[in-house]
Amino acid sequence: MNQDTICALATAQGVGAIGVIRVSGPQTIDVVQKIFKGKNLHQQPSHTIHFGTIRDDQNLIVDEVLISLFKAPTSYTREDTIEISCHGSDYIIQKILKLLLKNGARLANPGEFTQRAFLNGQLDLAQAEAVADLIASDSEASHQTAINQIRGGFSKQIAQLRESLIHFASLIELELDFGEEDVEFADRDDLRQLIHRIQSVLVPLIDSFEMGNVIKNGVPTVIVGKPNAGKSTLLNRLLNEEKAIVSDIAGTTRDVIEDELFIEGIRFRLIDTAGLRKTNDTIEAIGVERTLQQMEKASMIIYLFDASEISLKEIEEQIQSFNAPYVLVGNKQDKLSVNQKQEFEKAYPAIIWISASENQNIESLQKTLVQKVKTKEIKAGDTVVTNLRHYQHLLQTSESLNHVLEGLSNSITGDFLAQDIRFALHHLGEITGQITTDDLLANIFSKFCIGK
Ligand code: GDP
Repeated sequence: MNQDTICALATAQGVGAIGVIRVSGPQTIDVVQKIFKGKNLHQQPSHTIHFGTIRDDQNLIVDEVLISLFKAPTSYTREDTIEISCHGSDYIIQKILKLLLKNGARLANPGEFTQRAFLNGQLDLAQAEAVADLIASDSEASHQTAINQIRGGFSKQIAQLRESLIHFASLIELELDFGEEDVEFADRDDLRQLIHRIQSVLVPLIDSFEMGNVIKNGVPTVIVGKPNAGKSTLLNRLLNEEKAIVSDIAGTTRDVIEDELFIEGIRFRLIDTAGLRKTNDTIEAIGVERTLQQMEKASMIIYLFDASEISLKEIEEQIQSFNAPYVLVGNKQDKLSVNQKQEFEKAYPAIIWISASENQNIESLQKTLVQKVKTKEIKAGDTVVTNLRHYQHLLQTSESLNHVLEGLSNSITGDFLAQDIRFALHHLGEITGQITTDDLLANIFSKFCIGK
């Protein structure tokens, strides 16, 4: 398959100042030269740029272009690669792609350039996956973690751990070869120490996933409360736009509205809900049902109530059913007298008192939300696991190593130790791609865009 020469638009679809078409594979220079009038590309050194024209079958000019030439193995894919920078018209781009196809290239599959980079040893699997994350990054934090991973920080650590473990695995396998004879090539104390050392690397990585997941996917946050508590008003206030329908007829927000809000770089996926109350209206009942479903999925719950109708008993009953961190928020504090407010603040210090419509104390709510999420501060350069697949393999590695430790304490035989070490090696290898299956690769790269 790698003998094919592939091509695809690498820039976004649609009109732009320029479009970049990428071509990679052994026939790249031949194929492009057939439609390019300018210098002889075969004779040009790698990493050079050449001006010329793309011509169609009738030798008519399709566009004036720049050709960026990267010769194997010093390209992203480690194959001969050309990037054609043309004018960003859909018509021109389609025309050039068709000419490339006609002259021997085929259209690339999603992620195929990066897949080739991986297969040719330019990137390991974790780095290749980080390329997709980098393209998808939309906040400082998600960008930072993806860049760290592409630079190989995470992969290097995993590869080193794996190396040190392979050494022990081979010693223990050697013992097995001696069968009945009572020999121990692998020093059990050294092995125990090594496993503790590996666990001290694995555990922080595993723990970082919770925060990594927050960085990558945001925090699903639902706003719940009785109808008319001011949920839609608060949502609008937080988002600074009129998104939900605000009305004083109870039960007007019937559907679930979702939007994103960044506070201190953390993405909160805000979900406004129809509110919680018993109702005979069928449509509203569906809304209440959805609210309950959303609460199941939420990582954070903002429980909003009307401070002028406070009934803590009711709230206490409800929050018992929450299984995510929650923030209690008393809204409409503007309706309270100064005395009432002071009394409330003293009696219920955990409650945040705001006025959504009067824009009072919203900042303190935002701060509390961030505090609840930030279990751990992430410093620049910290390795954070953001990928579920990596997380699962790290967990399984750690479990297997715990089995080895248990085995060592119970002085079990080498063959059982060897088996658990092999499991650990397998899972570490799956992270960086030293062990892969076609299904795994297909699954990972199919999620990429075409042209990457
Ligand atoms: P929801 O049903 O919980 O979404 O409530 P809405 O956001 O639709 O608000 C219900 C009513 O309460 C509207 O008339 C809002 O203008 C009003 N409201 C919302 N927040 C405040 C507040 O902080 N103070 C006062 N006085 N009224 C508010």
